[in-house]
Amino acid sequence: MKLLVTGGAGYIGSVVAARLLESGHEVVVLDDCSTGHEDAVPTGATLVRATLRAAASDVLSGGFDGVLHFAAKSLVGESVEKPGLYWDKNLGESLALFDAMRVHRVPRIVFSSTAATYGEPERTPIAETDPTRPTNPYGASKLAIDTTLAEYARMYGIGGVSLRYFNVAGAYGTYGERHTVETHIIPNVLKVPLGERESVSIFGTDYPTEDGTCIRDYIHVVDLAAAHLLALDACAPGTHEIFNLGSGSGYSVREVIDVCREVTGHGIDAVESPRRPGDPAVLVASSAKITERLGWKPERDLRAMVTDAWAFASR
Ligand code: UDP
Repeated sequence: MKLLVTGGAGYIGSVVAARLLESGHEVVVLDDCSTGHEDAVPTGATLVRATLRAAASDVLSGGFDGVLHFAAKSLVGESVEKPGLYWDKNLGESLALFDAMRVHRVPRIVFSSTAATYGEPERTPIAETDPTRPTNPYGASKLAIDTTLAEYARMYGIGGVSLRYFNVAGAYGTYGERHTVETHIIPNVLKVPLGERESVSIFGTDYPTEDGTCIRDYIHVVDLAAAHLLALDACAPGTHEIFNLGSGSGYSVREVIDVCREVTGHGIDAVESPRRPGDPAVLVASSAKITERLGWKPERDLRAMVTDAWAFASR
């Protein structure tokens, strides 16, 4: 298929673009490189360096079979500080993309949604039918995009799939996490053995969990990419489907740090610190729907994620 990957210069977008190329697809990346990196775009993909608003219609006028939409602002804290930026960049630019798809009759799209659409869960594991009550503008803007996509599917016959990611980690060879502002736990822990920081903070040790730290559902970026390829084939005209992507179980912050110590062979210093505002105690996905419908199952455990992230970070 001829595919447009928005945000293909970013962490997840670059891994998916690489896997699509390896599967024989033709890939055009549309990315303004505001947070992504030009050198992360896989060889073999064509890069158009522009915003979706400026270029989506022009690019799609070339005739495409589908879109994988990753381009977004994704920092929760920043979204609380600058809500307008998140509504404008996330919802506004997505709307420009969907409308360009309508005009140029692009039949399918896989959208990068998020667990943040659910907010504080009532129960775990979280199912796709559970209430969506995002607790920040980032999650709210992603939920609005899911809703917009459902309307575009209903009205214009587009086949859409929203994949709601939980905690993505790991790397795929030379494609990995390189955020200027790094908030995620695994790359931050690995900065200690890299000599880039003295210690890592554990945000909250008084949560109602076995060891007092938050539990998250980590998924390897390569398993995530596999789900995108399956979702692309599953897009059915006029329908919008939502699938959670997680493993059904989770690891605590202390467990993550322990695995990082084992993999790196470094006695990583961890400082018990206050809670980070807005962090729910436990976020775990039910992936029953995507397993049943698309036959997807995660194959790589936390050790594999940390091993690959470490190989990438220390390369
Ligand atoms: N966390 C931590 N120290 C850090 C970064 C994160 O203790 O330096 C915790 C955070 O409070 C959360 C978990 O690790 O409980 C996962 O956070 P991350 O930012 O990686 O992902 P999120 O679940 O917020 O999307």
